Amino acid sequence: MTPSVDGEENQESSVPYWAAMRTYIAKILVLIPGFNFILSCYQDQQIYIFAPLPFQLMSIELGEEYGGTGASFFSIILAVEELAKVDPAVSLVCELQNTLTNKLFTTYGTEEQKRTYLPRVSKDTLGSFCLSEAGSGSDAFSLKTRAEKKGDYYIINGSKMWISLAEDAGVFFVMANTDPSLGYRGITCFIVDRDTEGLHVGKKEDKLGIRACSTCPVTFDNVKVPESNILGQIGQGYKYAIGMLNTGRIGIAAQMLGLAQGCFDHTVPYTKERVQFGKSIFDFQSAGAFRGEQNGCCWGSSRAVAVCECCAAVAGDAAPDCPGGHTAGGRAAADLQRGAAGGGGQAGHQGGQHGQVLHC
Ligand SMILES: Cc1cc2nc3c(=O)[nH]c(=O)nc-3n(C[C@H](O)[C@H](O)[C@H](O)COP(=O)(O)OP(=O)(O)OC[C@H]3O[C@@H](n4cnc5c(N)ncnc54)[C@H](O)[C@@H]3O)c2cc1C
Repeated sequence: MTPSVDGEENQESSVPYWAAMRTYIAKILVLIPGFNFILSCYQDQQIYIFAPLPFQLMSIELGEEYGGTGASFFSIILAVEELAKVDPAVSLVCELQNTLTNKLFTTYGTEEQKRTYLPRVSKDTLGSFCLSEAGSGSDAFSLKTRAEKKGDYYIINGSKMWISLAEDAGVFFVMANTDPSLGYRGITCFIVDRDTEGLHVGKKEDKLGIRACSTCPVTFDNVKVPESNILGQIGQGYKYAIGMLNTGRIGIAAQMLGLAQGCFDHTVPYTKERVQFGKSIFDFQSAGAFRGEQNGCCWGSSRAVAVCECCAAVAGDAAPDCPGGHTAGGRAAADLQRGAAGGGGQAGHQGGQHGQVLHC
C-alpha cells in the first residue's frame, strides 16, 4: 500500500491506504478515552508507553530500501492533519519524525549514517532536535553549547531546553558550536545516541496541552562523540536548522488545521443534540459560526489554502505542478481534500474546485 498522492496514476492505489489509516485513527485512537494508544500519559502520572506508529507513519517519505513508503512530502502533511483530528500529540510524533529526523538524515547524512540510522528511525527509534537553550530561544544561534575537538572525536558540553520527544528519543541532533570565534558559523550538528555517557534527559515540562508528547531539558556533560557523527559539514548547522524549521512549520500548520477540524467535528453534533429553551443550541444565533460549515462556507477552502500556500512556498516537491496548467497549490488542494475525504469521490472533486478557483 502507498499513501502517495503525487500523480493521477497513483491515486487509485492510495485509496486503500487512506481508508485503512482513517479507520485506525477513528476506531483505535478514539475508542480509548484519555489514553493515547501510541504515546500515552495518564494525566499527572509519569506513565509513558511508546509504540511505533503503524502504517509506516514513521517513514512516509523514506525510500522502500529503508522501510519507508517512498511517498511525497505532501503525504506527510495529509497524515499529520488526519492524526491531529484525533490526537495532536500523536500527530506531532509523525510530524517531527518525518519532516525533521528522517529529512535531516536523508538530506545531509553520509551513506554510513543513512545505513545506520534510517532503518531504525523508520521503525522504532524517535529522533529529537536539540537547538534551543535557556538563553537562546528566538535568538537560537547565540547558543552556548560547545563541541571541542580532541583528535578524531569531539567533547560536547552544554544544556538544551524544551526538547520535544526527548523522553522517548533514541537519537539526538545536537547543535553545538565548534568554534565560537566564528559566531553562528561555528554551529555544527552532531548525531548523539541516547545511551552516550554524559547525556542526561531531565524531567518533562508540565505542559497545558499535547501532554503525551514530552518536552524536556537535555544536558551534555563531557559527551564524547566521534567525528564521524557530524551531520553534514562543520559550521553548517545553522543552515540545516533554518531549513528544517521551515519545512517543520508546514507540518505544524497541518497539525493545527487537523486539531481545529477535529474540535469542529465533535462540537457540531453536540450543538444539535443539546436542547435549551425548547430548541437545539445549534439553532441559536450565537451558533451561527457552526452553520457556516453547513452552508458550504469556506472552512475546507481555508484548510486547503493554509497548507497549500505553505507547501507551494517552501517545498517544491510538496505540491508538484499539475497537468492542464493548474498551479501546484491548486493541485495540492485537490490532493488534500481527496486524502481527507478518504481517497476520492465527490469530496475530492470539490476540493479540486476550491483549489483551482483560489490558486489557478
Ligand atoms: C512545546 C515546545 C516544544 C519545543 N520543542 C523544541 C525542540 O524540539 N527543539 C528545540 O530546539 N526547541 C524546542 N522548543 C523551543 C522553541 O523553539 C522556543 O520556545 C522558541 O524558539 C522561542 O524561544 P523562547 O521560548 O525562548 O522565547 P523568546 O525568544 O524569549 O521569545 C518570547 C517572545 O518574545 C518576542 N520576540 C522575541 N524575539 C523577537 C523579535 N526579534 N522581534 C519581535 N518579537 C520578538 C516574541 O513574541 C516571542 O514569542 C520548544 C518549545 C515549546 C514550547
